[in-house]
Amino acid sequence: MAALTSVEAVTTPRRIAAGEFTATALCRAFLDRTAANDPGIGAFLTVDAEGALAAAASIDARVARGESLDALPLAGVVVAVKDNLATRGLRTTCASKMLADYIPPYDAHVVGRLRAAGAVIIGKTNLDEFAMGSSTENSAFFSTCNPWDRTRTPGGSSGGSAAAVAARFCQVALGSDTGGSVRQPAALTGVVGFKPTYGRVSRYGLVAFASSLDVVAQFGATVADAALLFEAVAGADPRDATCVERPVERPDFTRGVAGLRGLRVGIPREYFRDGLDADVREGVRAALDALAREGASLVDLSMPHTAAAIATYYVLAPAEASSNLARFDGVRFGRRVEAAELLGMYGATRERGFGAEVKQRILLGTFALSAGYSDAIYGKAQRVRTLIARDFTEAFAQVDVIATPTSPTVAFKLGARTTDPLAMYLADACTLPPSLAGVPAISVPTGLGRSGLPVGIQLVGPVFSEVRLLAVAHGVESLLGRVGAP
Ligand code: GLN
Repeated sequence: MAALTSVEAVTTPRRIAAGEFTATALCRAFLDRTAANDPGIGAFLTVDAEGALAAAASIDARVARGESLDALPLAGVVVAVKDNLATRGLRTTCASKMLADYIPPYDAHVVGRLRAAGAVIIGKTNLDEFAMGSSTENSAFFSTCNPWDRTRTPGGSSGGSAAAVAARFCQVALGSDTGGSVRQPAALTGVVGFKPTYGRVSRYGLVAFASSLDVVAQFGATVADAALLFEAVAGADPRDATCVERPVERPDFTRGVAGLRGLRVGIPREYFRDGLDADVREGVRAALDALAREGASLVDLSMPHTAAAIATYYVLAPAEASSNLARFDGVRFGRRVEAAELLGMYGATRERGFGAEVKQRILLGTFALSAGYSDAIYGKAQRVRTLIARDFTEAFAQVDVIATPTSPTVAFKLGARTTDPLAMYLADACTLPPSLAGVPAISVPTGLGRSGLPVGIQLVGPVFSEVRLLAVAHGVESLLGRVGAP
């Protein structure tokens, strides 16, 4: 039998139930692989071997008692969780000095759902501090390396989760996607990254960054694995007022490539302009040609407000962040730096607790919301956001899905953009518009470019079209094949 670390999440519960291997053996295989290889990658901030083995043992005990695993869709599945999702009793840092020693007294909704579904949580993954960044280099602790080339970034902000799936330190992983933080690192590491519709998954226990954009999102080595994780965590939760009450349906993966026949695929020309790496241009073009050969019709589109997305997002997200991060004042959560009087304590705590990018965003966001400027800056960005969303509504009157590159470039060198925030923000050019529109989007690997690095194609659907979008993504994956492990 091939190594246990290559077992797919979707087949895991039934193989454990059939006695092919135990949950404990599977868990140990991932723990051993992580212990041996993560020191060179830096995917994890915390590995919880004890908790993971205890969860695995409880699955094995059920099997030993002759109980069915049917009610546990993730029985024994080894999952990593981004370190901005609260885990009861397990350090949750947001990769910030502010929360370096924070141990939550509760589980995020999605973490509770994982446990209830029988998942084995192996640890907490590295990220850009408070999920602000596109390379995982803004972590206050260390940068994560790309398993395909350790001198390069895995992308961000969920770079730890992406690297963990790519390097096979876990089967699937949770991240958060505010402006591309799951899709972009998925593309850069050759895995699947799925951002559901805004409001589809509860954010209770996700440390808030930009509340009108934050979505809990899923990584898998395959579309089916990412979909399995999505199904397990999605659905209503009264503790998140934006979370909708709609049943979560199961995507139909039986049609494979045949499901692509007759599909109308919109190709917005604004996403194929300057600044694309040749590898990305060629990889995405080849994928689109393959779709056309299977009978999909490619529809040339214009989405005229696309170029405004970066400026719009980098007003709205910092504005919301400046408000959300006001709670880290040394009084209630996390770190406190003592000073002679109250204002001094606030200042010292925030000065020492936050890193440079977070401070920069708090300053920008506070300015954008300040009296006399808020309508000209924040209000205007809100109005442009409406135009960007309208581009999508109009496009979906003509097509079923939209296809774009996920990232304009392949994985860039560590350090290459750290002193140039604009270059870093350009990494989000293709993922920001769907975030601003609230629509679901998925990155699927197209293969390796001439550089030997992975490329991803982004598929975008109308709101709440997850089931259809996942089926299309599965067809595309069947057509293009998988990139495999580095
Ligand atoms: N890279 C974007 C940013 O820096 C998106 C981050 C995210 O989706 N969390 O804000």
